[in-house]
Amino acid sequence: MIIAANLKTNLTRKQTAEYIAELENYVSNGSTQEVLVFPAMSSLDSYDGKVIVGAQNAYPTQNGAFTGEIGTEQLDEFGIKTILIGHSERRHVLGETQEELVKKFNFYKELGYKIVYCIGEPLEKREAGKEEMMKYISTQYKGIDTSYENLIIAYEPVWAIGTGLTPTLEDIENIHTDLKEKSTAPLLYGGSVKVTNAQEVLALKNVDGILVGSAALYVEHFCTMIGYAQKLQK
Ligand code: PEP
Repeated sequence: MIIAANLKTNLTRKQTAEYIAELENYVSNGSTQEVLVFPAMSSLDSYDGKVIVGAQNAYPTQNGAFTGEIGTEQLDEFGIKTILIGHSERRHVLGETQEELVKKFNFYKELGYKIVYCIGEPLEKREAGKEEMMKYISTQYKGIDTSYENLIIAYEPVWAIGTGLTPTLEDIENIHTDLKEKSTAPLLYGGSVKVTNAQEVLALKNVDGILVGSAALYVEHFCTMIGYAQKLQK
């Protein structure tokens, strides 16, 4: 399974290095799970091990005049070939449009990056009923090559991110089953996954892993979740 940590704007460079060292130590002790970590931009570095380190964001460019952004020149320095695209905080807090995300997706796809592409509905779309909600989610697939071989999709309801709220297990399974019809790419669930619910979520049909934010900040919690996936042997 794929177990991913989005560290967002947390941890210093030193703390991140300690986090990854501890994680690497855990993972290299017999785990066969695919473990991804997305640290803050200033904590990116060359990490040689089983843990895959990716960028939370980068601009679709090699370099240039894009103040505040990084491109492949900076990612190449650390051998980073994995990127998160379409996270709800980038869509809804930072205002990235589907058009911009598609441009970014295509740029990094051309370069063969492993792309974790996030989708998910805000609360008002969920409350508008299943049909409306799926219609909204479909717009997030627009322009995205869903058969890209290095694609991982993460379904993350916006209202579940960082709120402690989650859909029911039945809802997660149903939505994942519908989404699997759109793409056979591995499908992660994200949104308030923690040690207390990760095992049940991972066990669901059509859940190929999890993307964890807040709860992953505690490396021991994140390792516990990797251990759950290992036990499930899906
Ligand atoms: C996320 O940021 O992708 C996420 C799932 O956050 P949290 O686990 O805190 O809800």
